This record gives sequence, structure tokens and C-alpha cells, in this order.
Amino acid sequence: MPNIATPLAALRQHRWFKLINGASFQDVAQVYNVTLAYSLAGADCIDVAADSAVIQAAVEAVETAQRLGGGRPLIMVSINDGADPHFRKATFDPRQCPTDCERPCQRICPAAAISFTADVQGILRDRCYGCGRCLPLCPAGLIQTYEQPAAFANITPLIQAGTVQALEIHTQPHRYDAFYALWQQVQPWTGYLKVLAISCPQGEEVISYLRWLSELIQPLQCELIWQADGRPMSGDIGDGATRATIQFGQAILEANLPGFVQLAGGTNGHTVAKLRAMGLLPPRATAKAIAGVAYGSYARKCLAVFHTMADQPWQTVPDILNAAVAAAAALVHPLKSVPSPLAPYG
Ligand code: SF4
Ligand code: SF4
Repeated sequence: MPNIATPLAALRQHRWFKLINGASFQDVAQVYNVTLAYSLAGADCIDVAADSAVIQAAVEAVETAQRLGGGRPLIMVSINDGADPHFRKATFDPRQCPTDCERPCQRICPAAAISFTADVQGILRDRCYGCGRCLPLCPAGLIQTYEQPAAFANITPLIQAGTVQALEIHTQPHRYDAFYALWQQVQPWTGYLKVLAISCPQGEEVISYLRWLSELIQPLQCELIWQADGRPMSGDIGDGATRATIQFGQAILEANLPGFVQLAGGTNGHTVAKLRAMGLLPPRATAKAIAGVAYGSYARKCLAVFHTMADQPWQTVPDILNAAVAAAAALVHPLKSVPSPLAPYG
């Protein structure tokens, strides 16, 4: 399904679809193929780690998708203002594992990032995106995490060159000083951006914190998205994961902050139907509506089977590419399929 609206028009029409590759996910072959499939399926934005090789893979995939007739989603890079589960990786020493361990860590890992082959033992660093699901399952308590903060200075040349058109700042309630310090670095570059997103999970006095952020960052020369990160990195777990992000998105809408509200964290194949049933998306929505949805672990899970069938660039294996695009479109289409009677807002 080609992307018929530009990304910013999709944002204003409540049809914004963002693919989250993962702020710590660095498997460039998978980033390339997943980005290619979702770009051809009509995604408006591709969110990637602040890693030059990962950004390059996403850019090449978007260019390939354009050559094949797709639209041109924005490239977004995620950064953070402090410790955050999106910006970490797990590690353990496989030599310490008891020989009779049934390896629950390997079974739970949604990224196939834990290996016990003759060639690779332990965690595949590039694939681990820090979801944390393996941590409580290790009976020997061997698995730890370490921070992998994004360095904003590394991506400013790509922002200036227009390669990266959107930036997302991950923050948490009460991070006043940390956000302020990061904003001093980011603010001079906002004139180059098309979109700035602020991603925040729920927490004590979160709406007050978002109001403070809103006042700090205005005036802004680009579009602003508030990303309601309801239940981070959990959309692939099941139906119920999406409730928290919908409730949080409603709370942000009711706060009437300037900018768009977009869901993430727990989003999956049930999210759009629930939003429509609740009148938070067209056609039943009022002017106060969710502008779009970002999908991470669930979007990647939808295409996981194709990685096991082909790890080369999927445009070289047309049957795989067509099947992957169809699977991606099944997630993109529900958000795009209903005409928007609403006047653009924001
Ligand atoms: S389960 Fe999550 S944290 Fe653990 S290795 Fe896999 S991706 Fe990393
Ligand atoms: S669960 Fe713990 S002990 Fe068992 S294989 Fe995984 S890391 Fe090793």
C-alpha cells in the first residue's frame, strides 16, 4: 500500500504511523529489512538508534523503498536525558551458567538475542534492545544490564544535512534538571527538524511535568509530538498491553498541550480498533483525537519469521519482500483506512 499522504499531512489527519526499530537495537541487517517493508507499507516515520551505521541502514532502506514506489517516511533518532530502559543492554557470562539450566532466558527473548551455538555464546549485543524480560528468569541471577546512552553530538551533522529529520527525547517525570541541560544542546538544532517528539512514561505528577516541558521548549520551529509511552517495549506481549498507553494518551489529550498526541509502549494489533471504539480516532473522534500510533516490539514481531527465511536485503528476494510488506501493511492499514473528517489541528 503506497503512502499517499506526506508524513506531516498524515500527522494532521490522525493517520501517523511510526515504526520503532528500538533505541538500542543495532542489528543493521534487520533494521534495513524491517524499515524497507514498513516504508513500502506506508509508514510515516522510522525511529532508530542514535548510531551512524543504524541510521545509514534506515536511510538506504527508505531510498530503496522510494525506488520501488513507496513514500518517504521521516528518519527519527531517539536520545535520552538519563537512565532509561530503552537505552540499555543486557549481559551475562555464559561460562557461569549451570550446565543443567533450561535456558529460560533464551526462550523469552523477543529479539533472538541470546545464543548458545558453537560460534556465539551469550548475548548478541547488536540485537539486545534492553526489554529486560530475561533478567528475572535467570535462576542463577547472572544477567545484568548496562546503560547505553545516546550521544546527541554524534548526530548533529546528520540533522544539519537533513538526513535525520526528526528527533525524539526520552524523559521521565521529575527530570527537570536533566531535561533542561539536554535541551540547551538540542534547542539550537530544532530549526533543522520537521518533528520533535517528547516520549514519557506515566508517573507521579506527569501532566505537571509535561506542562513544564511544553513551556520550556516553546516557541518551536517544527511539529511537536507527545509520545505516551504507556507500557514500554511490551506490545508483543498481548492484547492487554495497549490499555495503559490509551489511558495515558487520553490524559495528555485532556491536558490540552500544544502539539500532537501519539501512542507507543504496549501498542499492537488491537490498539487502533480500541481507539476507534473509544472515539479517539476518526470517524467518531472530536477535534481532540490521537494523531497516530508508534509500534515497536509488535511491529518487529510481525516480521520476525521473514528474518529466519532471508537475511540478505529483501528486495533481492521478491517473494519474501512481498510477504513482509503484506504483513507490515496489515498493521499499517487499519490506521490509514478510515477517511478523516476532522480539520487538521496542531
Ligand atoms: S530478553 Fe530483552 S534484555 Fe534480555 S537479551 Fe533479549 S532483548 Fe535483551
Ligand atoms: S537463564 Fe541464566 S543460567 Fe540459564 S542459560 Fe540463561 S543466563 Fe545462563
